[in-house]
Amino acid sequence: MNKSYTIDGSRDALWMATATGPPPTTPLDGDQRFDVAIIGAGLTALNAALHLARHGVSVGVLEAAGLGFGASGRSGGQVNLGLNLSPSQLIEKFGPAQGERLIDTVINTPDHVFSLIKEHALQCDPVQNGWVQGAVHSRQLPLQSALADEYARYGCALEVLNKDDLTQRTGTNRYQGGLFVPMAGSLQPLSYTRELARAAIAHGAAIYTQTPVTGLHKNDTGWLLKTATGTVGCEHVLVCTNGYTGNLVSGLAQRLVPVRSILIASEPLSDNLRKTVLPDQVTFVDKRNLILYFRYDRDGRICVGDHGPMRDEFRLEDYTSLKRRVLDVFPQLESTRWDYHWGGRVAMTKSTLPFLYEIAPGLTAGMGYNGRGVGMGTMMGKILAEHILHPTDQAGAFPVTEPKKFALHKFHSAGVTMAVKWYALQDHLASL
Ligand SMILES: Cc1cc2nc3c(=O)[nH]c(=O)nc-3n(C[C@H](O)[C@H](O)[C@H](O)COP(=O)(O)OP(=O)(O)OC[C@H]3O[C@@H](n4cnc5c(N)ncnc54)[C@H](O)[C@@H]3O)c2cc1C
Repeated sequence: MNKSYTIDGSRDALWMATATGPPPTTPLDGDQRFDVAIIGAGLTALNAALHLARHGVSVGVLEAAGLGFGASGRSGGQVNLGLNLSPSQLIEKFGPAQGERLIDTVINTPDHVFSLIKEHALQCDPVQNGWVQGAVHSRQLPLQSALADEYARYGCALEVLNKDDLTQRTGTNRYQGGLFVPMAGSLQPLSYTRELARAAIAHGAAIYTQTPVTGLHKNDTGWLLKTATGTVGCEHVLVCTNGYTGNLVSGLAQRLVPVRSILIASEPLSDNLRKTVLPDQVTFVDKRNLILYFRYDRDGRICVGDHGPMRDEFRLEDYTSLKRRVLDVFPQLESTRWDYHWGGRVAMTKSTLPFLYEIAPGLTAGMGYNGRGVGMGTMMGKILAEHILHPTDQAGAFPVTEPKKFALHKFHSAGVTMAVKWYALQDHLASL
């Protein structure tokens, strides 16, 4: 193994090798004006653009790199319930009316994604076979059962699995039981991103790639975005830069901590192996602080994710412990070859919830999905669009908040590295 080889978290992704081609886009050239300008071209931005364009709003998307260069083109592609907090936690935090609207949003997130795919015939290998969360120790089982009871009160049926059920659904006997979320699933994330862009363009949105926004100013007619090759004037700006947020908007980056997640994908597994590893083609995550997450791609490659080191370029040795952890769950993969290695930035927030943040009149940010952005980022795109289309609607699907900043943000890399060690220790102790 050549240890000095560095892995580009975008170029070396499985998704790059198997994605549907991107729609044609070019850099911005000259000066343009739109009703709405969107910064970033991930799922949040592109679903916002699609929704706005469908409602006759003129919209321009500006992306620093290529379509899906950020987390959207690199993710595990798992489509889950939208938020990390339970229904009772949401009610406690936001009160009954807003809490219930949020619960509705969470429950409808996977169906929103899969119906968008159907409606616009997005070529992105969707599979809606459900998501399994495996309990690492029996103390987690009552928590999972209580969560299923909570969701049942809102008409959402999650299935509690005992150890035998879990083994049957996943092929591993390493877990004590678990939870099954039937409406969840997976897709090819880069294809999904590119195809959402295609649909947005078809409805009239303009998308400029290789166009980093370098300046943002308020003027008499709204906002002016500056780039190296032109400007965009608009009434409303949506900032959808998530874990790739820089210093363009003062104080925004301090409200997020970008942690890294890494993924590996195997050679296509034989039919016999596929009968013993996630035989139902469910997506699978274990219930730890530092989760392992599994899924298949359309060609029968198993893709597995884990936390990564705090940098954007990865080395083959960064994946050693992930490969060891996989064998602990599926020892039958001992001789399997790992063909793809990649990773990217996951945006964490202090509240562990995403935010819809009105930074200034006409300047709004939507981001911070804490690892659930395939579904929730898509959903947030629609919510941002509705926020612009219906500005006086006080009963929106998502509350407008001012997210808290992380104290000592400039030391976040060291902080995350220490937190990962602490969580790893806790996971180890909990498994004894
Ligand atoms: C390895 C990995 C695995 C993941 N797995 C899952 C999963 O299985 N399920 C799940 O739900 N979530 C997962 N996530 C999280 C999910 O991918 C993200 O939450 C989601 O894609 C965020 O989408 P987004 O559009 O908000 O941001 P992004 O897709 O990150 O897009 C932000 C874009 O903004 C652009 N940008 C930044 N600054 C500027 C600027 N100044 N000018 C122009 N453009 C700019 C960037 O280039 C980037 O393309 C994963 C993330 C990673 C990294």
